[in-house]
Order: sequence, then structure tokens, then C-alpha cells
Amino acid sequence: MPELPEVEITAERLDEALRGATIESSLAPGINALKTFDPPLHAIDGQTISGVRRIGKHLVVDVGDDLSLLIHLMSAGRLQLFDKRASLKDRTSRLLVRVDHDRELRLREFGTKQRAWVKLLRREDVERDDAVASLGPEAWPDPPEDLAERLAGAGARPLHGVLRDQKVIAGIGRSWVDEILWTARLSPFQRGNDLDADQAKALREAIIEVLGRAMAHYEENVHLPIPDKLPLPLLVHRKQGEPCPRCGTTLEAVFYEDYVMTYCPTDQTGGKVLKDRRLSRLLK
Ligand SMILES: [Zn+2]
Repeated sequence: MPELPEVEITAERLDEALRGATIESSLAPGINALKTFDPPLHAIDGQTISGVRRIGKHLVVDVGDDLSLLIHLMSAGRLQLFDKRASLKDRTSRLLVRVDHDRELRLREFGTKQRAWVKLLRREDVERDDAVASLGPEAWPDPPEDLAERLAGAGARPLHGVLRDQKVIAGIGRSWVDEILWTARLSPFQRGNDLDADQAKALREAIIEVLGRAMAHYEENVHLPIPDKLPLPLLVHRKQGEPCPRCGTTLEAVFYEDYVMTYCPTDQTGGKVLKDRRLSRLLK
């Protein structure tokens, strides 16, 4: 779930709080969370946090002059700063970084899957790491001017999928893509290589508007510790059955195994209600 706006507000708030803080000790209780072993995790102990930033949907905690923790929250992770130290019984903890003034930075992951990950890298290796080197340009605040060409270059793929392809454009996921396509009045199934100039312009403007509005909402409403559930200011995603906030048509949805695509038939699909794949599978 954490997409560009959620990761960006996390990075901003942690940067404000942790820049200049001293790391006392570190521990990775998550069995599979720490993906690197050289340098060892304890190399950050005793060092100063020089900043927290975002790349795509990744968080980067810069430590001292030449080390960085590269973190991916995946679908259910949070990077949270607490005043009190963790009980070791907290099964959600994947990484614990104890910092001065009795605080603790904790990578926690909810749900049953352990997919969030951490790499401790030399600073110059962050940009070269596979996860970062493969990313397309940032979706916000300034999406690429050549967005239409980038989408076309990805082939005849539905917009709903291609906009979530981090190699094409970085930061958009399953929640915000619904909001962006609804704002741009584009069908989730329209092919990315089949946009006219007006549609491409509307899409780029919708990305700026939707992600910018989310950020403004978080700037006002999200403070430390970053809550387990962020107050997502969504208008259409997962609101199937409710009236479209723009035209009043009942919002429809297509259900996939692990996500849902919500859209307005009047605004986005020429009045057509798309086939619900879950339903059609059940009927076979
Ligand atoms: Zn509508």
C-alpha cells in the first residue's frame, strides 16, 4: 500500500526528527528482512543520521558520510519512530535502530507475509543497486514531459498496469492509479500506446494534481509517529457502489486476487461496465 505520497511524508517527517541523531545500536529481528551482509549492520552503530529521503517507493536513511539503509516497505511495512523502546515480543519488527534520547526507529510489517526489506549499502552503491537503477523517472512533483512516449514504449499494455510499472514511472501503485485515471477520465484498460495528445496531457496533469493533493493532505494531517493506518484521502479507490463524486454514477470495480480496480463507467469507459474477472471465474 505505501505509495509515493505515503513514503514521501514518512521520509519528510523522519528527516525532520532524525537528522543529526546518533545511532546507539541496531538489530534486524526479521528473519529475511536484511538482504545484505557487507558492510555488517553494526557498522552504523555510533554514527550520525545525516538524512532520510525517498527514491520511488523506497526510503533511504543516510548514515554518516558513506553508508545508507535502503528500505522497501512493500505492501504492508511502516518505518516508524517511537519514544519508547520496543518490546522484543513485537513480531512485526523487521529492523530496530536505537537512537539518542531514548528513541527507536522501527521497520514494522503487518500481515502474515514478510516481504519488506532492508539493504545496508555504501552510499555510492545506492543508485547502482538493482532496485533503484531499474526505476523510471519520479511521478511527482514533476512527472516526465515525455510520459506519453514512455508509456508507448512499454507496449500495448493497459494504463492501469503500465502506470504501476516502476520501470516506466516511479511511485504510483494500486490506490493512486485509480484516482489518477478517474481524474484524467481515462479507462483503466486503455492501452498506454494508444493515447492522443490531449489524453496524455490530461494524464500528466492528473498525476501532478492527485499526488500533490495527497501530499498536501498528509503535510497537514500526518505527524510522528507515522500511524499504522494513514488517513488516505481517496475519492474513488475501493468506493465501488458509492456515487461518483463528479457525476453521481455508481462506481464500479473489477476484483483481482489481491487488489481492486475502481472506476466510473460514465467518466471513464463510455458507460460500459467492465467484466468482473473474479465473478466470471466463479461462473466457469
Ligand atoms: Zn463519474
